[in-house]
Order: sequence, then C-alpha cells, then structure tokens
Amino acid sequence: MHIAKAEILVLDIPMHDSLIVSFWKIDRLKPIIIKITDELWNVGYGESILLPYPMTPFEYFDTWLTTLKNFIVPAIVWKEIVLSDSIYTTIENFINLYGDVYGFEMTKSGIQNAFIHLITQRFNISIYNLFETKNGIIHVWASIGIPQNMDDYLGKINSFIEKWVQRIKLKIAHWNDILLISEVRKKFPNVELTIDANCDYDLKSFLNIVPYIDTSNICMVEQPFAHDNFGANIELKKVMKTPLCLDESIRSIQDVENYRTNNGCDIVNIKIGRVWWAYSAYKINKYCEAHSIWTWVWWLLETDLWRSFNIAIAGMSNCKYDSDFSAWDEYYTGHIMKDPYRIDQWRIQIDFSQKWIGFEIDEEKLEEYTFNKFIYE
Ligand SMILES: [Mg+2]
Repeated sequence: MHIAKAEILVLDIPMHDSLIVSFWKIDRLKPIIIKITDELWNVGYGESILLPYPMTPFEYFDTWLTTLKNFIVPAIVWKEIVLSDSIYTTIENFINLYGDVYGFEMTKSGIQNAFIHLITQRFNISIYNLFETKNGIIHVWASIGIPQNMDDYLGKINSFIEKWVQRIKLKIAHWNDILLISEVRKKFPNVELTIDANCDYDLKSFLNIVPYIDTSNICMVEQPFAHDNFGANIELKKVMKTPLCLDESIRSIQDVENYRTNNGCDIVNIKIGRVWWAYSAYKINKYCEAHSIWTWVWWLLETDLWRSFNIAIAGMSNCKYDSDFSAWDEYYTGHIMKDPYRIDQWRIQIDFSQKWIGFEIDEEKLEEYTFNKFIYE
C-alpha cells in the first residue's frame, strides 16, 4: 500500500480562557492536523499535540512543523508500506519508513495516529478493537490551573462539584502549595483531591511539605520533580505515604520498568502525546497491567480529534483512575469532529458500534479553523 497524499493543516481555534500552570501561561493554540490519503482513497486524520514553548519533551510549534515538512512527510509519500495480515505488523512497517529520523516523537505522533485512523479502515475494525478497549463508561475528573484570584478559583471548583465531578486535580507550585491545598480543603473537606506539581520542586523543598500532604487526604501526588530526576522520586517514595504518580518522567515502557524495579512510582499518567502516540500508549498500558501499576489518561491541550484516541486508551481495563477530558470544553471555543463525545454527569459513554476512530471529522469546521496548509503528493 501507499500514502498518495499528505496534508499538514495548521489550525487556529480560539480559547475561552488562558491556562496557567507552574511555569507557563497559554493564551492561544495552533493544533497541527495531519491528513493522509492512501491509493484506495481512504483518508486518515491525526494531530500533533503542540505547545508554544519547549518543555518536556523539547519540541514546540516551530520544530514540529519543520520536522514534519522536511523529514517525516517526504519519507512516507509514495513509499511502499508492506501490508501484513496483522494490523499491528502493518503499523510497525509504516513507522519503519522514517525510522532513521531520531527523536521528535510528539511530531511523529500526529502522522502515526493518522495512519491508525487510515489502517483501521483498511482492516475494517474499530480503534476499540485495536486497543482492546473494554470499559464502556469513562469517568472524568476536572483539572484546574493555578489561580489568579482565590475567590474565582474556589467558585470554579464549586461549579465543578455541582456538576458531579468526583475528583479535582489542583496544579500547585512551590510558592502556593500549602495555601492552595488548605483553602480548598477548608471549603471542600470531602472532595477527592489530587495535586500536580509539573516538575516544580527539588527533593529538599518537596520533602518539607510531605507531612502536610500525607495528612491532607490527597489521592495522589503527581510529578513533583524534573522529568529526569530519577533519584528524587526513589527517595520520596521511601518517606511519602500518599501514592506517587509519574507523568513527565514516563515516555516509554523502559521508563516504567526502571521506576517499577526501583519502587519509584505507584501510578502512571498516560498522555498519548508524551509517550509518542496511541499505539505506544496501548503498549505501555499493557505493560503496566502486567505489573499491577494502575494508570489514567490525561489531555495535552489537544482538539477533540485527538480525544478519540484518548477515549480508546482510557477505556482499557488497566485505566483504573478517572481520566481528564474536561478541559476541551473549558478552554476551546469550537470543535472539529461531527457529534463529538459527550460528557454526561462527568462520564463518557463509548459507543462500541462506532467505526474506525469512533467519530467523524467535520470538514467544514476543519476548513474554517485552518489558517495554513501544506500539501505533498
Ligand atoms: Mg501532570
């Protein structure tokens, strides 16, 4: 089989509100949508998750675009892809086409997910079959950025709770941690709370607040240290009673194995974009299940196209914790899928009868939000 045409669409979808975490603020996003067409006119869509700044990993908008245009897309258009009887082998054959492009995993993820969309059509199976999605109901929680105003912040949490959210994730930083947790706990003593530090601490500074966290009924602490600070996580696990969840530190099965064999984490937050793409997320989830490490799925500022892949992974049997799909409606003003998933009382119900990636692209909306396009054929 061949990819006869590849298109890179750069979108501009307005946001309702900016997003602030411990080290950056985002006001505007430019999702990159990859559209590939094979010789039988099957069309697959994928998305490269983008952030405006280099962080973990170190790709950002400009590097993604140039890497796609200069290296990845030219490596796949009109190149032979060996079509195996196994869909998994065919997927591996596809990624081998640009196997000599080192790194840039988030950039590759868009084109790889587009290929998954396309190949599910060639094999006429759904993404739910491909990824062994079992759970028909996905429970959703809410994540809240660092506040600019405490009253607005507490009001927002209250509105989430009134809308049936069962668990809230607070983004914290070293300069607001105890204040934030104590204000939330004072007003909402019983709500399930998770805290996410987004790599903001060193070991010494975080150990100072561990006694407070361990007595504040926190469900899990997420990613207190830099992505490569392996030793700090190991040391923290020796003293902290609250479960430790890793996010930025996990990019591969090898990372999970290193932490598992050193008792360095309890839970893994799978972001499909960070672990390269949906197929890697599937394999990491299978590995975690085999070693009794529970997981959950989180978003990375992606559009509702990407959510189709997130939902399939979040429905795998090892995703025991609620996943975070809330922010799409919270931050974006539009969508590009026809009849996108619905959150009803903070649950998403999977329709297993849906074909391929589960939802259909709204071509008119896609056109409306596209402000730049590159075509290769
Ligand atoms: Mg996180």
